Amino acid sequence: MQLYASAINCQDGRPDWIYLSPHLDDAVFSCGGRIALQVRAGMRVWVVTVCAGSPEGPLSDFAQALHEYWGLAETDAPAARREEDRAALARLGAVAVHWDFWDCIYRRAPDGRFLYPNYDALWGPIAEEDGALREELALRMAELPSSATLCVPLGAGAHVDHRLVRQAAEATGRPLVYYEDYPYAGKPGRVEQALGEGIWRAEEVGLDEVALEAKIAAALCYRSQITSFWAGEADLAAHFRAYAAAVGGGNPAERYWRR
Ligand SMILES: [Zn+2]
Repeated sequence: MQLYASAINCQDGRPDWIYLSPHLDDAVFSCGGRIALQVRAGMRVWVVTVCAGSPEGPLSDFAQALHEYWGLAETDAPAARREEDRAALARLGAVAVHWDFWDCIYRRAPDGRFLYPNYDALWGPIAEEDGALREELALRMAELPSSATLCVPLGAGAHVDHRLVRQAAEATGRPLVYYEDYPYAGKPGRVEQALGEGIWRAEEVGLDEVALEAKIAAALCYRSQITSFWAGEADLAAHFRAYAAAVGGGNPAERYWRR
């Protein structure tokens, strides 16, 4: 698999923080406020989106229906989403790195069968055939600059790609900071479920109005994804504000976790 490496090649400094985003939107939806604060403080931030590749070969009916829903049926949908991501991260001042692994909705078994052919499958067991992908991801993650703190999805909501990214990151043995996958984390019990066993320390990051506004403005760049979760732009902004306030007990915040 090739790496869309242009972002790395033109990056003149090593990153201080790397956010691993399963899809083209997760890191900004979840961590956009902290990214804005870090960039403002002079830190170099990369957002590495793992499943950013354009698929080859046939699409499942499910994937085609999603493309239509996103308004991207007539185009290379992941390419359009990469553009949205570049716009969002430019707003935040972070570097976009796009790996060309495929979103689970595109992945097939060697016999051609779609591994996740419907909505329910997104939240079900990880396909055995994805074991090799997890190993490849772990190798790729281990090569990321060691100067950086790695921030990975907790897997709240249990989307298969989010769980795979977390598992691969854990397989590297690197120390990790975990983020709460928003909007999934907004549903009661999802974060607790994802934390599971173990001793965890929560880390709250307070957001000022400028950072919160930057996060919302960046999130709105993912135009094709807004209606998957929200009624429109104003509804997105209202939900982002409400969740940030809930996390911070009245003062806007994002929450992270360390073991
Ligand atoms: Zn996602």
